[in-house]
Amino acid sequence: MSLFDLSGRVAIVTGGNGGIGLGMAKGLAAAGAAVVVAARNREKSERAVGELSALGVLSSFMPLDVADPQSCRAMVAEAAERFGRLDILVNNAGMSIRKPPESYAVEEWQRVLDTNLTGALVCCQAAYPHMQRQGGGKIINIGSMMAIFGAAYAAAYSASKGAIVQLTKSLATAWAKDNVQVNAVLPGWIDTELTRDARHQVPGLNERILNRTPAGRWGMPDDLAGVAVFLSGPASDFVTGATIPVDGGFSAEF
Ligand code: NDP
Repeated sequence: MSLFDLSGRVAIVTGGNGGIGLGMAKGLAAAGAAVVVAARNREKSERAVGELSALGVLSSFMPLDVADPQSCRAMVAEAAERFGRLDILVNNAGMSIRKPPESYAVEEWQRVLDTNLTGALVCCQAAYPHMQRQGGGKIINIGSMMAIFGAAYAAAYSASKGAIVQLTKSLATAWAKDNVQVNAVLPGWIDTELTRDARHQVPGLNERILNRTPAGRWGMPDDLAGVAVFLSGPASDFVTGATIPVDGGFSAEF
C-alpha cells in the first residue's frame, strides 16, 4: 500500500469549485479519490467536476450553502449515500468582509463566522458518524495566515480562522480514539478570486505580499495539492491536531 494512494476513498471538498479548494481536489483526484464538489455556484462547480473527472475518478457536484446547517447535513448525507462511504472532508469554503472593526454590523460578523467556522463544525458533525462506522477518516480544515496574524480590515475573518485552528485541536483530541485525524492547513497568500478582490480593496497589498514572502511569489492553488494528499492518506495516520502552514515561508520570518 502506498502512503499516498487514495484509491477507493471518497472525499468532500467544500468550496471545491475554484481556488484553493479545486487545487486540493485535483491533488486528491490525482491520488485516486472520488471527489464531491460542494458549493453554491452550479455552473462553476460543473466545470470543476469536468476537470476532476478528466483525471479518471468519479466526481460529482452537490449544492451547499455552508452557512446553513441544514444544507451541510443534507450535502454530507447525500454524498455518503451516493458514493457508499465517506473518508475525507476538506472544510475549505470561506469568505471575508473587509472593513474596519468598528464598522461591522452584527449580521456581517455573523455571516463570516457562520460561513468560515460554524459551517465547518456542522460538516464535521455530519461526517463523523460515517467515519466512525467505517473505522476512520480524515478531516482537513482550512485556516489562514490570519489565524496567526491580525489585520485592520479582517477582524471577523481572523477571528473565524483563529477559531478554526482551536476547533481542529478539540476535534482531533475527541475523535483520535475513532481513528479520525483532524488537521488544519494555513495557506499563505494564494492567487485566487478571494485575494484578487483583496488586491483591489487593499492598496499596496500585492507589493507587500511579494516583499514579505520569502519565496518571493504568490502561491498558486496547485501548491496546496500535496498537503491535501498527505493529510488524506495513510502517510498522516499519526498526525492529528496539527496546523501546517503552506506559505512560502511567510509565517517563519519576523
Ligand atoms: P475563492 O473565493 O476562490 O473560493 C471560495 C470558495 O468557497 C468558493 O468555491 C465558493 O463557492 C465557496 N463558498 C463561499 N461561500 C460559500 C457558502 N456559503 N457555501 C458554500 N460554499 C461557499 O477563495 P480561496 O480559494 O482563496 O479560498 C478558499 C479557502 O482558503 C477559504 O476558506 C479562505 O479563507 C482560505 N484562504 C485563502 C487564502 C488565499 O490567499 N487565497 C489564504 C488563506 C486562507 P460558491 O461561491 O460557488 O459557493
